[in-house]
Amino acid sequence: MASVAGAIFRPRYIRAEQLAAQHGEIYRKLGVRPLINAAGTYTVLSGSLMPERARLAMEEASSCFVRLEELQRAVGARIAQLLGVESAMVTSGGACGILLATAACVTGGDPEKIRRVPNLEGMKNEVIVPREHRNGYDHAARTVGVKLVEVETVDELHRAIGPQTAMLYFTNIFEPKGQIKRQEFIAAGKQAGIPVFNDAAAEIPPASNLSSIFREGFDLVGFSGGKALRGPQSSGLLLGRKELIEAALLNNNPNDDAVGRTSKVGKEEMIGLLTSIEEFLQGDHEADMRQWRGYMESIASDVRGVSTVKAEVYVPGPGAHPIPYLRVQWDQNQLNLKYADCARRLRDGDPSIEVNAGGDGLNLASYNLYPGEERIVGLRLRTMLSQAAKGSTS
Ligand SMILES: *Cc1c(COP(=O)(O)O)cnc(C)c1O
Repeated sequence: MASVAGAIFRPRYIRAEQLAAQHGEIYRKLGVRPLINAAGTYTVLSGSLMPERARLAMEEASSCFVRLEELQRAVGARIAQLLGVESAMVTSGGACGILLATAACVTGGDPEKIRRVPNLEGMKNEVIVPREHRNGYDHAARTVGVKLVEVETVDELHRAIGPQTAMLYFTNIFEPKGQIKRQEFIAAGKQAGIPVFNDAAAEIPPASNLSSIFREGFDLVGFSGGKALRGPQSSGLLLGRKELIEAALLNNNPNDDAVGRTSKVGKEEMIGLLTSIEEFLQGDHEADMRQWRGYMESIASDVRGVSTVKAEVYVPGPGAHPIPYLRVQWDQNQLNLKYADCARRLRDGDPSIEVNAGGDGLNLASYNLYPGEERIVGLRLRTMLSQAAKGSTS
């Protein structure tokens, strides 16, 4: 494997040969069917797959005791150094980053306050959020006991800020939906001396977001570790200003009497995420984009030519993930095949394939496909569409 040819031809994220050979045997033994993921980095589809070096690092980490706080600080310092940010820590997922950011802003480093969460009597208990940024993950902020105060305009934002305000809460991907621009949000926080958090959980690529969002002026930024960073599924990254990360650490495990004790991060996840970040930063992201586009083009050319089928490769604009996708559309009446039924049949087939089906067709995401899988997906889809086309003309 160390040969020159191996170095050239081995794709960076390929599953270990032995895993491919076993074909998900560890899951099949339980009657659980592995799948080809042309849908995206969804938690319900088990996130993403780790690079080999991260898997091996986790195994190595699992075979030796260590003091967890010492490791958390060392891993955080190393990640912060790699990204050129002030401070960082590993969380148990992007959602936990929201929880710990909120807790840090509410309690600071005060041990008495940390113990009392989520009973916030006599403490700052409000978090201000642009209305359009509300989403299911903000449950993690509410876990701390705060009330979410919704605002729509910059004016409303300034009026809502008061002595009860603990944090301003932004969700990066929803910026285009709301009226308040990121710089206005940051400025309001700076003016009032209130920390501003940005949930950027799935905002990679571009890789530059890992450091640029903090440099823009957000005090805390959260990422999921189990999406495009390809870390352990149950990991996340919280980075930001030093005293806030210190406060987040105090609210986290291994401390018993803290709101973050229920979202433990183990030594394996810490080492796994660090290694995944190292791999990610060394990666050739333009080559990845070319490879992903190639997968989408390949599937597109497999299905084009079937009666009424249109296939378009596209990279979505702001408010979505900037990676190559493929939209496949056809005349659902003429082919007598509904988009949702097609997706269900792909799921039920062997191997099981996951895609997104919506009103506008099938949407396939590129970045969780592995070499060769694009052919399996393309041929299955072509067969299904061709059969539907034949049935409709006979
Ligand atoms: C995925 C996601 C999260 C949660 O991240 P996990 O690592 O799955 O906990 C939070 N916020 C947003 C916007 C996300 O897309």
